[in-house]
Amino acid sequence: MTTGKIRVRFAPSPTGLLHVGNARTALYNWLFARRAGGVFVLRIEDTDLERSEARYESQLIEDLRWLGLDWDEGPEGPNVTEKGAYGPYRQSERLKIYAGLTEQLLAEDKAYRCFCTPEELAAEHQLAIKQHGPQVYSGRCRRLSPETVEKNLAAGMPFAVRLKIGMEPLRFRDIVRGAVEFAPEAVSDPILVRSAKEGEPGMPVYNYVVTIDDALMKITHVVRGDDHISNTPRQVAIYKAFGWPVPEFAHLSTILGADRERLSKRHGATSIATFREMGYLPEALVNYLGLLGWGAEDGKTEIFTLAELTRAFTLERVTPSPAIFDFEKLNWLNRHYIKLASHERLTALARDYFGGMLPAKDAARDDVEAWFARLVRLFAPSVDHLDQLPAKTSFVFGFDHEAARARAENAEVLAADSARTVLTELANRVRSHSAWVTPEVFKAWLNDIKAATGVNGKELFHPVRIALTGMQSGPDFDKLLPLIEDGAALGLPVTSVQSRVEQFVGV
Ligand code: GLU
Repeated sequence: MTTGKIRVRFAPSPTGLLHVGNARTALYNWLFARRAGGVFVLRIEDTDLERSEARYESQLIEDLRWLGLDWDEGPEGPNVTEKGAYGPYRQSERLKIYAGLTEQLLAEDKAYRCFCTPEELAAEHQLAIKQHGPQVYSGRCRRLSPETVEKNLAAGMPFAVRLKIGMEPLRFRDIVRGAVEFAPEAVSDPILVRSAKEGEPGMPVYNYVVTIDDALMKITHVVRGDDHISNTPRQVAIYKAFGWPVPEFAHLSTILGADRERLSKRHGATSIATFREMGYLPEALVNYLGLLGWGAEDGKTEIFTLAELTRAFTLERVTPSPAIFDFEKLNWLNRHYIKLASHERLTALARDYFGGMLPAKDAARDDVEAWFARLVRLFAPSVDHLDQLPAKTSFVFGFDHEAARARAENAEVLAADSARTVLTELANRVRSHSAWVTPEVFKAWLNDIKAATGVNGKELFHPVRIALTGMQSGPDFDKLLPLIEDGAALGLPVTSVQSRVEQFVGV
């Protein structure tokens, strides 16, 4: 058991956009640290120099902040300095630390130089397959005499550095999975530092640097994706070689799509940046990720703010079985949080989706923005995510009446004699009206038409709705008509009620 302060870390590689799986890892680490009053560290694992990019690091910092997560130590942040307590926090800035420790392991004879060429290793591998033996390194260079090593070094032969694996099983405690044990043969002598060309330093590998950093940064619990379980015995062996305490682990299950395949772009959005662009609210994503592999103690509560999750979250309740990403459930939560969000916030978020329909933001007019706020207020409660608003509200601006007329369900309504009568009556009234159509005027018209034609209920309302909106259902006319008329009066590309009826009835 760990005594003292809990210290956890999130250690992303800046090689792409932050994926929901990694965001969940970050969240669970953060929740665990915050609940325990511990420390949450952000460490950038950028030793893969070819694939790491600074823009991904900035993006992932932005995404974590957007989700509402903060960190106590890391490469940057309001409360952290580049030095931090155990910095630097970018692995590319820690190469000297790794090199010093490699010298130490070699000097203590816990690691050795391996001069095997890629061709020799490939041949060894092929032979193992042919003989149905274990496909692990034979340990050939472990047995080289000091003289041979000296000679090879003097000849400038490239070498990797390998760890000498002992005979004991490699054990660790996993809070999600219980005790885990690997046989040492399954691991063989892992490479710590890759072989380099002459004159260049060899690059230390992930398993090596992650262990060094976790140990030097005094990480007490390693919470990460279960794709790292098979790496863990190598890391345990490295802790042992240095005589460092082995932390506890919690490996979070893989996230799958509905078809039980690993979640990928094929299933829909997977990066936090994309969900954000689609108009998901961060509190909805945080709530959803919180439930993705963890459940409340009462077995039923599903709505959690970040603060509520912090109070409720324990690693013991994280499930080892794969988590299925359910877009419908995320949408349900997003609708919930959209209904709770302030109108100002929703309006500001939605504004970006209406670039083509409204004046550019830098040429914004207060009257137009106020009108837009009414539009958002009326329609936001009916969307799953805010980027659906332009499509959802497009009929407010105008619609293709030919297409609306042709749609099977509309054609059926419009074919009735009563529908034709109602729309002719409506057109007559519209024609003799020279002002904007208010809900009161409109209501009076419908009452008149009802009295004059004897048509009422669905037969009256559906054709009228189709003529005005292209659809049989939608928001209340009391709210919708003023929105349409005010939009047209403001000079926006909004078709007025009068023009709608005229176009539709073909006056
Ligand atoms: N950089 C590794 C990754 O993104 C970190 C793994 C770990 O947490 O140990 O998968």
